[in-house]
Amino acid sequence: MSMSSSMPELIHRWNHTFSILSIVSFPNKKLLFAGTQDSKILVFDLPNYNLIKTIKLGSSLETNTRSSVLCLTRSDDEKYLFSAGADSLVRIWSINGSPLENTVSVEEVATVYSVTDIGDIFSIIYLNSLQTLVLGCQNASLLYLDNIFERLKCKLKSKEDNNENRLPHRRYDKFFDSLGPMGSTTPSQESLATTPEIKTFQKNNTILEIPSENIIKYAHNGFIYSLCKMCTSLNCQFDHGRSPVRDGTQNKNKFTECIVSAGGDGISKIWKFESITDKNGTKVTITNNDEMDNDDSVLSQAIEFPFLYCGLSGGLVKIWDLNTKQLVSTLDTGDKSDVISISVYMDHIFAVNASGITLFYQNQIHHWDPNQGKMLSSEIFERKSKIGIHNSPSLLTGGNDGSLTLWDLSHIFQNTILSSSKMERSNSWATYQPAGLNSEEMLSTLRELISYETVSQGYDTQQQLASRRCATYLQQLLINFGASVSQLLPVMSGGNPVVFARFNGNGKNKKRILWYGHYDVIPVGDPERWTTDPFVLTCENGYLKGRGVSDNKGPLVSALHSVANLFQNDELINDVVFLIEGSEEIGSPGFAEVCQKYKEVIGDKIDWIFLSNSTWVDEEHPCLNYGLRGVINAQVRVWSDQPDRHSGVNGGVFREPTTDLINIISKLQNDEGHVHIPNFYSPLKPLCDIDYGRFVEITKTANLDENKTIDELITNWTKPSLSITTMKMSGPGNITVIPKSASIGLSIRLVPEQSVDDVKKDLINYLKESFAKLPTKNQLEITILNEAEPWLGDPTNHAYQILKQEIASTWGMEPLFVREGGSIPGIRTLERAFQAPAVQIPCGQSTDNAHLNNENLRIKNWTKMAEILSKVFNQL
Ligand SMILES: [Zn+2]
Repeated sequence: MSMSSSMPELIHRWNHTFSILSIVSFPNKKLLFAGTQDSKILVFDLPNYNLIKTIKLGSSLETNTRSSVLCLTRSDDEKYLFSAGADSLVRIWSINGSPLENTVSVEEVATVYSVTDIGDIFSIIYLNSLQTLVLGCQNASLLYLDNIFERLKCKLKSKEDNNENRLPHRRYDKFFDSLGPMGSTTPSQESLATTPEIKTFQKNNTILEIPSENIIKYAHNGFIYSLCKMCTSLNCQFDHGRSPVRDGTQNKNKFTECIVSAGGDGISKIWKFESITDKNGTKVTITNNDEMDNDDSVLSQAIEFPFLYCGLSGGLVKIWDLNTKQLVSTLDTGDKSDVISISVYMDHIFAVNASGITLFYQNQIHHWDPNQGKMLSSEIFERKSKIGIHNSPSLLTGGNDGSLTLWDLSHIFQNTILSSSKMERSNSWATYQPAGLNSEEMLSTLRELISYETVSQGYDTQQQLASRRCATYLQQLLINFGASVSQLLPVMSGGNPVVFARFNGNGKNKKRILWYGHYDVIPVGDPERWTTDPFVLTCENGYLKGRGVSDNKGPLVSALHSVANLFQNDELINDVVFLIEGSEEIGSPGFAEVCQKYKEVIGDKIDWIFLSNSTWVDEEHPCLNYGLRGVINAQVRVWSDQPDRHSGVNGGVFREPTTDLINIISKLQNDEGHVHIPNFYSPLKPLCDIDYGRFVEITKTANLDENKTIDELITNWTKPSLSITTMKMSGPGNITVIPKSASIGLSIRLVPEQSVDDVKKDLINYLKESFAKLPTKNQLEITILNEAEPWLGDPTNHAYQILKQEIASTWGMEPLFVREGGSIPGIRTLERAFQAPAVQIPCGQSTDNAHLNNENLRIKNWTKMAEILSKVFNQL
């Protein structure tokens, strides 16, 4: 997509004499409402772009009505409009009729006030399921009025006088001198309570008072500029991740909604509103326990789950992951003025500040000035199209020059809307989802998983967002599948969260099985070498193709569907716990800490650890894997205090870093490739006869790559190795330039007899000693990039025997017991943390091309894997 060639297109511009401070759209009713600085609500019809009504607030007899309309919101069904602002009142309007028939009516049905002086109301939202209005105010309080329409009914029945003199601006002077984010001025104070006129209110207007117990004083430490609603259907996870479906304690009439408030103190706070039914009817209670510190004042917020976007004073936008409350990214509009309004639509962020609009999308930044003086308000909505399937996304913006503009964004989203399944995605989340074992249902899950570009290498903001979206998708999917618990566990270092979920078995002396998988993937490499889009699942000739189908999203889907299917048929005997991490491909940083910190959440007692993160040794023979090598990846760097130099001018005068580096690295191995790190081979034991027998069997049975000999197999699987994997030098790479710094990457594979810590220590000491012997002034630096312990399972244990039996009956042949030369850091981490043995069942074939181009997985392997697991999990 090229954004520069597809800028928003102006559809219409309206002009008013005072600033437009607030906007809300009613897309189904085809209406727009704008709140102005001169206390009016303007009503426009979308079909003809006409100003059809101008509503002046307050009764005509009131003189004290010069009060800005700072905020507008609506009910989901578009029956009601709510307005509020500098007069400390909320007005509820009933909206009826249609612009197409010229019958639009806007009738004020109630006025809401508070007995305490709350100053300006900067933000309001309406929680539909709870019929609750929430107000964010200048005096730092958060107020709410629950069961509004129940209250209205009672009020009308009681025929109580609607004495408008109780309204706050009639009772006391305004204490605050409001110069809020909109720069509005204090309403004139000259004429207070001069005309006591009791029956001037419109005949249906009712006055509602916010009970004092519904006022949360000092909800913030500053003005509350912004309130933002989270999508209702996704709130379950804030309810300790309990499943809305299978939890017997869930009350059908109980509703929960979450909002995020923010303001001058820079804190974004999550509040949970929950309805409680008792003798006195339904009541809403509210709790707060999560805070995110933005450092600067928050003037605007937007949510596109799972992300919260905060518009800050000083021109920055911060993106938070609402699942883990971690800061994901900070974006800079390049302009120091306050981000007064922010809208997000399908990952596109529209930040509004004084200079105009900044659009952020996929690491691109685009500015444009809509020419409306100082920008004050914005909203994105979908204009209902008469023909065609797609609604056109539109942007509304209001300025301090009194202009209101409507922009068409269709061009910007053209490609995204057509190619993306995101719209469908959000709809499917709230529902209970059957987990079939057929390839159709498994495919739809895998298709979704593959579409997230969950590359964990590098620090690309888009990929970080994609990874967190993927984690959220998995968390929701597990809930929808019926998991009793499903939540995201934050990684302390700020990396991708770990998805945790538990399915409860119905057995008596049930075992607890932990399934370990990962949702991150290796970068695609050269896209030219792929024959299909790596992030679109493709099915060809009986194979799945796409980044991650083999490593590790495909096997993960087999496991998820097998467990969920058993559970949904009420056939799951044992408990199954899923731990799915997002940083396996970069060495699982932080995973060990997560296992320790959340040990109680995960459940201390685990009997078996299962994983499927490798392949068969050929294309035909099912395998069981019981051994992996460990790894130490290190970078050795030598540098000098001098700059890059020239071989003609300086050659021969100084010790060169590259020479020193090559010198010490060359001492790591002898001419035969024997590793010279002290004690490297001393712990090794000869291969036992049983293992040797297994290897002989493999070389006889399997069609090994390049006709691997038994000796090569033994070396690859049971002997340590040292490889030089990268070489880097500073400077332009010119043949006559002497680099000031040079580095070499080492990848050392270890076997079970060796200790990672010992080898690490011996390596570092040996390099330092070799370096110390050189007559050089250069410096040496050794960095351990990541490490993994070697692993050796027990192929004779109960789990392996059950697996062997079920593989034999499913595939019609006995599995080969294999080991592997590669490493998986999580496996020993889990064994240590939960004191349980790990078991690995490879899913795909040797031709899967994991980590390479055209990664694939045979569909037969994939579905049979789910079949095998369904049988195995119940027999443990
Ligand atoms: Zn991998």
